[in-house]
Amino acid sequence: MAAWSAAYHRESVTIGLVPTMGALHAGHRALIRTARLSCDAVVVSLFVNPAQFGPQEDFARYPRKPKADAALCRKEGVDVLFAPPVGEVYPDGFQSTVSVPALARRWEGARRPGHFDGVATVVTKLLAVVRPTVAVFGQKDFQQAALIRRLVEDLDLGARVLVYPTVREADGLALSSRNVYLTPAQRRAAPVLLRALQAGRGAIRCGVRSGPRIQQAMRRIIGEESLAKVEYLAVCDPETLEPLTRVRRHAVLLGAIRIGRIRLIDNLLVKV
Ligand code: AMP
Repeated sequence: MAAWSAAYHRESVTIGLVPTMGALHAGHRALIRTARLSCDAVVVSLFVNPAQFGPQEDFARYPRKPKADAALCRKEGVDVLFAPPVGEVYPDGFQSTVSVPALARRWEGARRPGHFDGVATVVTKLLAVVRPTVAVFGQKDFQQAALIRRLVEDLDLGARVLVYPTVREADGLALSSRNVYLTPAQRRAAPVLLRALQAGRGAIRCGVRSGPRIQQAMRRIIGEESLAKVEYLAVCDPETLEPLTRVRRHAVLLGAIRIGRIRLIDNLLVKV
């Protein structure tokens, strides 16, 4: 175990952990501040996890900004910036994996085979090493947060999982380290995803309860933006992430679109 983690535990210092892949932005900063509010010490992990990238994905060119990340962490009073090398997380002979199969089956999991096994495995390792009181994740990655809640409960990993609402640009685009890939024209088109989800929410608020009809309302908006292609727009149960034919108490609207080669995801939680 990391020496600093052992020392914190010896001194009964409570730890708030914020797992990230770096290229930190205001979304990450909000998670850091949430951890700060509930714990004595804040640990930010920075690890671009090769196990959660598919062979055709952007692992090699994922944005890496170690200096700016360190500066942001210093400014936020982060106590430990934990950036282990790949060989330390996955040493020779490493072979164990963690899966949460039902929650990983659809949506992101269906389009990114193996992605959530990579996420679940690395989060399990981070929680084992850091043993935080609280671990903070973003609602931006709704399926990931749902899966991590399940994982932590199933395996008694001991941390309290907090999920912080999505931080957005003024025009509604969810902040993401990958937004830097967008060309100016693509960037202008990108808020269409939130507008589509809002149209779905609007339909629910107007009394529409049929999942397919809500889906249609969302698709119509994406159809108006020639640069955007739908990967999925779904009306789901917020706990199981199974599609709903009818909305009753609540729903999560999950969306993924492609603009050029860039994938964007977003979601809205809607209470009836
Ligand atoms: P990442 O570095 O993209 O793996 O994200 C690290 C954590 O930050 C995850 O829990 C994400 O869900 C969260 N996160 C990313 N973008 C945002 C955002 N715009 N608002 C809130 N949390 C976010």
